[in-house]
Formats: sequence, structure tokens, C-alpha cells
Amino acid sequence: MLKLDIQLFAVPFSKVSKTRKRMRRTHYKIEANQTVKCPKCGELIRPHRVCPNCGNYKGKEVVKTNEA
Ligand SMILES: [Zn+2]
Repeated sequence: MLKLDIQLFAVPFSKVSKTRKRMRRTHYKIEANQTVKCPKCGELIRPHRVCPNCGNYKGKEVVKTNEA
């Protein structure tokens, strides 16, 4: 039997120019984290996370903080 050692893979039909590449990448940008107000202390915190200021989550203190 004749065995051909050929690998097939996707080949781009045409080169993507610098401009096209850069235009596509204009959508790649970082955004600031979303914040909500802590119901306990009013500090701006990230949602669904324990408040780093007062250690509260869902109305309970879950983490001890240095503040009283
Ligand atoms: Zn808090």
C-alpha cells in the first residue's frame, strides 16, 4: 500500500493587512470593573463578592476586618 504522509490544515485564503488586523483589534479593550454599593457601609465594591471594607456578604459578617 502507498502511504502518503500529508497533513491537511486550514490555510488563510489571503493575507490580512495591517489595517484590517488593526481595525479588528479596535474592539479588544479593557473595561473598568463593574461596581455596586455595599449595603452595609456604602463602599463601592465588586458585585457578588465579600465587601473588603466591612467583611459583609448577604447581611452577615463573613470575614473579620481590622475595623470594629
Ligand atoms: Zn461593606
